Amino acid sequence: MLPGRETDTDARQRARPDPFRRHGEQVFLGDVGTSGGLLCDEHSRVLDVNGDPIPGLYATGNATASVMGRAYPAGGASIGAACVFAYIAGNHVAAWQKQ
Ligand SMILES: Cc1cc2nc3c(=O)[nH]c(=O)nc-3n(C[C@H](O)[C@H](O)[C@H](O)COP(=O)(O)OP(=O)(O)OC[C@H]3O[C@@H](n4cnc5c(N)ncnc54)[C@H](O)[C@@H]3O)c2cc1C
Repeated sequence: MLPGRETDTDARQRARPDPFRRHGEQVFLGDVGTSGGLLCDEHSRVLDVNGDPIPGLYATGNATASVMGRAYPAGGASIGAACVFAYIAGNHVAAWQKQ
């Protein structure tokens, strides 16, 4: 699309505004499990803004950014990764507690 040129979609949008906007919500399209979240390292430790692990804070599942990046490769990618990284977190906590 050329900058500044209105498309048919723009015109239809103006004629029929997004109903969710009236309620203070804006709706964005996204693939399953790719809408961002907490960043974690390979031990499921949550990273701070500098990329350093926050001691004792672990996360997995929907609360975290997808390990698959911005794509959802196939069914099971969400639950599979959630379970695997929960298991990894549990083992890491156990090893950390033994120190
Ligand atoms: C319709 C649908 C189909 C899906 N199909 C698939 C699929 O085929 N394969 C796949 O891999 N993934 C699928 N997913 C995604 C998958 O369900 C999620 O990735 C997975 O359930 C995430 O697990 P979770 O433990 O992170 O979060 P959730 O399963 O959402 O668990 C979070 C829990 O925390 C509880 N909770 C929330 N707030 C609070 C609070 N303040 N205090 C206490 N408890 C709280 C909630 O009640 C809930 O029980 C699907 C999701 C949907 C919605």
